[in-house]
Amino acid sequence: MTTSAQLFEQASRHIPGGVNSPVRAFKGLHRPPVFMERAQGAYLYDVEGKRYVDYVGSWGPMITGHADPEVLGAVRERLDQGLSFGTPTAIETTMADLICEMIPTIEMVRMVNSGTEATMSAIRLARGFTGRDKIVKFEGNYHGHSDSLLVKAGSGALTHGEPSSPGVPASLAEHTVTLSYNDPDAVEACFEEIGDEIACIIVEPVAGNMNCIPPQPGFLETLRRVCNEHGSVLIFDEVMTGFRVAMGGAQAYYEVAPDLTCLGKIVGGGMPVGAFGGKREIMEHISPLGPVYQAGTLSGNPLAMAAGIALLTKLREPGFHDALAQRVETLCHGLQERADAAGVDMITQHVGGMFGLFFTGQSRVDNFAQATACDAEAFRRFFSAMLDQGVYLAPSAFEAGFMSSAHTPEDIQLTLDAAEKAFAAVQL
Ligand code: PLP
Repeated sequence: MTTSAQLFEQASRHIPGGVNSPVRAFKGLHRPPVFMERAQGAYLYDVEGKRYVDYVGSWGPMITGHADPEVLGAVRERLDQGLSFGTPTAIETTMADLICEMIPTIEMVRMVNSGTEATMSAIRLARGFTGRDKIVKFEGNYHGHSDSLLVKAGSGALTHGEPSSPGVPASLAEHTVTLSYNDPDAVEACFEEIGDEIACIIVEPVAGNMNCIPPQPGFLETLRRVCNEHGSVLIFDEVMTGFRVAMGGAQAYYEVAPDLTCLGKIVGGGMPVGAFGGKREIMEHISPLGPVYQAGTLSGNPLAMAAGIALLTKLREPGFHDALAQRVETLCHGLQERADAAGVDMITQHVGGMFGLFFTGQSRVDNFAQATACDAEAFRRFFSAMLDQGVYLAPSAFEAGFMSSAHTPEDIQLTLDAAEKAFAAVQL
């Protein structure tokens, strides 16, 4: 039998770092990544036949569990008609209608192939629509890997962002202003100074890329207000939160309406799909209607649309999100009890179907600085002990966890039993 360690070694010969996306590499966790072979419902099965209760869900899409028979069935049904035509297809209209119905702030929508494409295109659209170059983002929010968004706060945070990756031109990064999440005062100050130069604010309405950090009351409302006051476009990056924290996404949950919304993950049912959409008057600037260029050879791919439509349709069952949130609540409550009993400093934060564990003595984590101050070694030990016991958590202290409707009370109990032992390992 070939082990994960052997496969990782083989993969590393021709794939940089052995992976096609960095977080998969288990960097800093002192063990090789697990190579998975198949998945069903709440479970992943590795190449050695071991089963894991999965709280990553392919980083979000698998909200009804892996290999959902209805999603697979929809793809199978389309398969024999051909993989891609490069022409309009009726199924793209079905998808667009469904998205606009589920997220009412979206009046028009364009399909793309990833979350990165969605945010990159939304930024270009906001710049084209406003005729301005500057954008505002928040430290610890991740919006994919396009150049304008791989930027961290520079020393003069208000005016000069710095590339967070080699290869991003400083001359581009300086158009990106990076502020602290959950800091409305910083947003106000920024807009007071340069508000009329700002094309847009892009924000994760619940931050899921620095673990799970909900917006504090008033934060999203402040973003909405300053954008209104200064004619800037408010973009909610709901690639992660869309259809997960509520059927209508975080904007429905918090009742704050963005101008544009970016989608990904769930919208493709596990296929490579993203989307961006919003107000008609803004979306009409996209080509071929308007002058802002955006395109894609495989965009609106019929198989991907079939998978996404099948999944979105399932989420519309009454009570779906309440039940999902209840499962998260049970898990987080159980984890807290066991951490407390073991004397481990840990807190949980959750919204709808997403959650996070922070190894910290603080009662709340609101921003990147607080998230990165958490105990990385405690996380590493906990993660490793959970993995050994067949529970697959995100292999990074800075990623949110995802629940699915396929997780049973028994799966959650198994997770809590494993956590009891894992918290003991944290203390060693
Ligand atoms: N935006 C958010 C909030 C994300 O979490 C991600 C990916 O995790 C992206 C954008 C980028 O999406 P993709 O990896 O599909 O390019």
